[in-house]
Amino acid sequence: YVKQHGGDDIRWYDKTIEEATSGSLQLEADLRAASAEGQFIPYYQPKFLLDTGIITGFEALVRWQHPTRGLLKPKHFIDAILTHKLSFELFSQMANKIAKQLSEWQQQGFCQHICINADAAEFSHPEFFDMVSGLLVEHNIAACQLHIEVTESSLIQRHDDVRKQLNSLKELGVRLALDDFGTGYASLSYLQDYPFDFIKIDKSFISKIDTDRTQHAIVKAILDLADALNMHVVAEGIETEQQRDVLLDMGCKNGQGYWFGKPVPADVATEMLVKQYATE
Ligand code: C2E
Ligand code: MG
Ligand code: MG
Ligand code: MG
Repeated sequence: YVKQHGGDDIRWYDKTIEEATSGSLQLEADLRAASAEGQFIPYYQPKFLLDTGIITGFEALVRWQHPTRGLLKPKHFIDAILTHKLSFELFSQMANKIAKQLSEWQQQGFCQHICINADAAEFSHPEFFDMVSGLLVEHNIAACQLHIEVTESSLIQRHDDVRKQLNSLKELGVRLALDDFGTGYASLSYLQDYPFDFIKIDKSFISKIDTDRTQHAIVKAILDLADALNMHVVAEGIETEQQRDVLLDMGCKNGQGYWFGKPVPADVATEMLVKQYATE
């Protein structure tokens, strides 16, 4: 059944040991229904330029619109998705909705990009590449408007498979981001082995950046490294203006975080763009 992350999360599928078995079966059945019925929906968190506050794009973060339990965050079901091998179903549902969103925004004259999160396990699916390239053609989207984020932790296995897929995506023009940078086991070798365009600095390195010299030094080193490798950097989890200011001083250009904007439903994200374009 569902793996514990610790903390005081409400974990409704693993309340008691007696319930555990049927809870797990129920979760799997619910996830299959969610895959079949389109219950996974993207929320969008703005990515912004630290100096001007201009929105350059959005990260799509899955929410499960559960028929009885309401809107659920990934921590409640993402491990189970992997366990039950439903990653590709989740990815294709998200990718379809994101492609439609991009084409709607394009029709309104908005040219922002959307980042989709993918687990490396999804890449080994035989239809992965055709599905992505097919969506771009079907919705008439420039490949560079789609970014794919892969977490360091999901890169531990499947070395060759993943490299092939990432190289093909890169050739197609899709932008690739290494997510949660610095939290994996081999952060630097991932930069060497895979063709990433963006490094996303994990929020655990940003949380005390305005007061902690170690965090400051680590982030500085990542910025220098990215610069030398011609890669872009996005700082994740910016929660205060002070953090933004420090990052800006250090030469970091792109960020995300609650200070600027939390993940929101599509219509709210669209309103943000309407406002932005109205004042340009
Ligand atoms: P992530 O890709 O690193 O996404 C960032 C997470 O941090 C999101 O949590 C976001 O809501 C949260 N966040 C953003 N700004 C702040 C901030 O200023 N402070 C704090 N404390 N948190 C912030 P969320 O939406 O719960 O997603 C958690 C993780 O689940 C994601 O981490 C990603 O690894 C995974 N995930 C989300 N959507 C998908 C998906 O469609 N597919 C896959 N495979 N994984 C997904
Ligand atoms: Mg991400
Ligand atoms: Mg991250
Ligand atoms: Mg994460």
